[in-house]
Amino acid sequence: MSNQLSDRINNLPNSQTLEMAAKARELKAQGRDIISLSLGEPDFNTPDFIKLAAINAINENYNSYTAVNGYVELREAICRKFKRDNNLDYNPNQIVVSTGAKQSIANTILVLINPEDEIIFPAPYWVSYAAVATLARAKIVEIPSTIDTDFKITPKQLEAAITPKTKMVIFNSPNNPSGSVYSEKEFRALAKVLEKYPNIYILSDEIYEHINYGSPSFSFAAIDKMKNRTITVNGVAKAFAMTGWRVGYLGAPEWIAKACTKMQGQITSGTNCIAQRATITALDSPSSSIKYMVDEFKIRRDLMVDLLSKIDGFKINIPEGAFYIFPDISYYFGKTIKGKIIKNASDFTLFLLEKANVATVTGEAFGDPNCIRISYAASQDNLKEAVKRISKALT
Ligand code: GLU
Repeated sequence: MSNQLSDRINNLPNSQTLEMAAKARELKAQGRDIISLSLGEPDFNTPDFIKLAAINAINENYNSYTAVNGYVELREAICRKFKRDNNLDYNPNQIVVSTGAKQSIANTILVLINPEDEIIFPAPYWVSYAAVATLARAKIVEIPSTIDTDFKITPKQLEAAITPKTKMVIFNSPNNPSGSVYSEKEFRALAKVLEKYPNIYILSDEIYEHINYGSPSFSFAAIDKMKNRTITVNGVAKAFAMTGWRVGYLGAPEWIAKACTKMQGQITSGTNCIAQRATITALDSPSSSIKYMVDEFKIRRDLMVDLLSKIDGFKINIPEGAFYIFPDISYYFGKTIKGKIIKNASDFTLFLLEKANVATVTGEAFGDPNCIRISYAASQDNLKEAVKRISKALT
């Protein structure tokens, strides 16, 4: 019956991160011993002090619709967070709370982009940017990068990608899937190029801000000349192990924030009131309250870099943030292993699923067909076992 569906949905790809996670769950339910390194989801519990805030909110009868853009107390807490962590001055009218950073991104793209507008995607990039851009009928202009440049783009590449139709650039640092982090200096050099093009908006996805093992994350909007055309997106899912609570937010010029509120007022009416109350507590907590998780992710990062670089044909960058590693495995293309022909990265991930019982995600989903994404948001034991299986399957 798919011919009964709209072209819009028929042309929309499935989210390959969610699809691979669903496949792994399905195989597990059938009794297969699958280690799923597909989804980017902290394996920690939400900290107790945040859970308690949610329980209190229920008992205090927070149960009604909230303002579409979120409780004002939450928007004030977000302003405090932006000031404290990012040196950004926003007022509550410039903040919109949404059902996850994913909705903040969708709102931003849908309110700013007309059909045929061009959006510049430094590759590799997160899967859902492309899907939402497709919904908005934008033209995606990819800027490729490779492991040799630590998956970062240069000002020269950015300049070359800009045309009179460019409406937006999407930056994501720390990056999903590469883990690369742009330094302040690198961002300022890119901003220098954008200074010449006042009609280009910048969507800065900073959801992995706190999961950063190198120099502190730098917000693009902290560059004076960029602030009035940057939309800063963040959320609590990754830093506070709150993926299922679905709370994301953005800070933007007021007219853009207002448009995003109008958009979500027609689609979701805003996000869950209990999760919003708990988020106030999360954002007002000191960074020491989540340090144990970041420290553990760093140990796992080091472990994965060490173990994976011992496997033949895995070319690795050292991710400085997020919880993914993005090896270039193109060495295997054209080879036949255990009777399976590996033509591309998708074949490689299917091979790993079938022969090693390890779920990963193909780099094709992220705009880089030479790589695969491995999430190390899993226990050290599972990571060690997964690499052992991968290594065995490939020999
Ligand atoms: N952002 C996470 C990931 O890339 C969660 C899944 C999703 O929302 O796509 O794996």
